[in-house]
Formats: sequence, structure tokens, C-alpha cells
Amino acid sequence: MQKRRAEEFPSTTKELEARRRARREIRRKRRRRQVMTARIVVGAIGLILLACVGFGLYRLGSFLWRSQEGEETVSVMQEREIIKTNRSEKPEISEELLTPNEYSRPGDELPEVTELFVHYTANAGTSAAQNRSYFENLGITGETSASSHFIIGYEGEIIQCLPLNEIGYSVKEHNFNSISIECCYLDEDGKFTDATYDSLIRLLGWLMKEYDLGISSVKRHYDAGGKPCPIYYVEHEDAWNQLKKDLKEYIL
Ligand SMILES: [Zn+2]
Repeated sequence: MQKRRAEEFPSTTKELEARRRARREIRRKRRRRQVMTARIVVGAIGLILLACVGFGLYRLGSFLWRSQEGEETVSVMQEREIIKTNRSEKPEISEELLTPNEYSRPGDELPEVTELFVHYTANAGTSAAQNRSYFENLGITGETSASSHFIIGYEGEIIQCLPLNEIGYSVKEHNFNSISIECCYLDEDGKFTDATYDSLIRLLGWLMKEYDLGISSVKRHYDAGGKPCPIYYVEHEDAWNQLKKDLKEYIL
């Protein structure tokens, strides 16, 4: 008791000053500890928040990646199945090859077929024979360069204008890797008749079998460069998707 009293009531000024300094030092240390603790707490909260955001982004990223991969896998599997299953018979085709000429049958070799393009004639009510004559006459008039391997009439008849090992002038940039099919139509909106539609499905199915192609190889002229051809199936995306569904059902 006595000792504590002596500490509480120091006898000299020097001792008093020493006590004050010690107390100040203690206060300083305490404040420093508080600041350090506050910094650690703030830092920890920051780290936790950062980890939460990072984890959230990671989960979102992996979810998007997985769903993308999922779709991809399904479509690749379906494509494989379609190619494997495809036993489409060759439809009835009337072979009326164009006379070789530089405007519609240049005779250049078609080295590979990776795409099948669907077109419309852009001339309502004209027949397959009339459109074939138009291509044939280009050799005389030299008006423009145009042709396609097949023309399907509005009654469903199929005319072949070019051998399958020769290029046509149908889709810029794709003439050397594709086969083109022109479709006739009656309605002004460009919708194919049922007969044209059925022949198109059968012709596409057979060509897909011949070249081991899946549905993704079937394209509108529009899909290569944006030309509104075949117009009805450009303006009605659902009708184009339906055509691909019908094609898939026809093959599987
Ligand atoms: Zn076209």
C-alpha cells in the first residue's frame, strides 16, 4: 500500500515529469494500436468485398462459358448425327446443262463444297425453264455474270444448269466452295410454293448427304453479304428457321 502511494504521489518534479512522459507514451501506443486495428479491420472488409466480387464474376463467367459450351456441344452433336443418319435419296432432276460461256458457265473447277446457298429468282411467276433460258442467254448478251447449279420451279420441278464439279456465278466470294439453288415463286412476297419448298428440302437433304454437310452449311444468299435473297426468308427469320427444322426432320 505504501509503495503504491509513493508512486501515486511522486516526491520530486523529475519523477513527476517521468511519470507524465510514461503516461503520454502509453497513450501514444494505445492510439497507435487503435489506428492499426482500424486499418486491419478496414483492410479485411475490403479484402472480403473484393473476394465476393471476384467470386461473383468468376461464377458469372463460368456460367456463361458453360451455357455457351452446352449449346455448342448440342449443335455439334446434332450436326454429327444428321451427317451420320442422312440417307436422303436423289430427287428427280432434269439435267439441262448450260452451254459453256464466260458469263454463266465459265467451266472453272469447283474444288470443294462446304456451303449450300438458297436464292429466289427475284422475278415472281417465272418458271424454272424461263430462268434457265435467262442464264443460257447471258452467254449471248453478256449482260451480266450469273448462274446457279439448280433452279426449282414453282411446281417443284428441278433443273440442273451446271455440273457439280464446276463453279457458278451465284455468291461473290463463295463461288469456289458452294452450290447454289435458285427458287421460283408466285406470291409477290417471295414465299415459296409448297411444291418448291418440298423439292428444296429434298434437294438440300441429298446434297448434304453427298458432301457430308450439316444444317449449318445451309445458308441464304443473305447470310453471305446481306443481299435480301431469298427475300421472304430474310424478312421472316422464323420461316427460315422453320425450313431448317423441316430439313432436320426430313433427314433424321
Ligand atoms: Zn441470291
